[in-house]
Amino acid sequence: MKKSIGLVAHDDKKELLAQWCANHREKLAEFDLYATGTTGAHIVEETELSITLLKSGPLGGDAQLGAMIVENKLDGLIFFIDALTAMPHDVDVKALIRLATLYDVPFACNRSTANAVLGLF
Ligand code: PGA
Repeated sequence: MKKSIGLVAHDDKKELLAQWCANHREKLAEFDLYATGTTGAHIVEETELSITLLKSGPLGGDAQLGAMIVENKLDGLIFFIDALTAMPHDVDVKALIRLATLYDVPFACNRSTANAVLGLF
């Protein structure tokens, strides 16, 4: 069965994540990919990868990824976080990170850890 990876980036990091996905396109194509709405649309435009688009993060997309973790439906999470900007949906972001921690899901918050997480598979 294919492994699944969740992809999220805060607004200031979306271009960085799309570029990272383009650089790792071949490897990422081996996974079932899920992304929050705006992030996913950005990555699809840049890479033409096939991605299941969830709700936008502030509208519950982060919570949807959290629910997938709880149901053992997510094998890895790449979440490029903007560490310099306050987010209205910070509670959802924290909940997602908490669930990834609790369920021992490999979780990357920036480019170098994303490289490390992808290297696990
Ligand atoms: P977005 O959500 O991809 O819909 O912008 C990401 C986020 O949690 O900010």
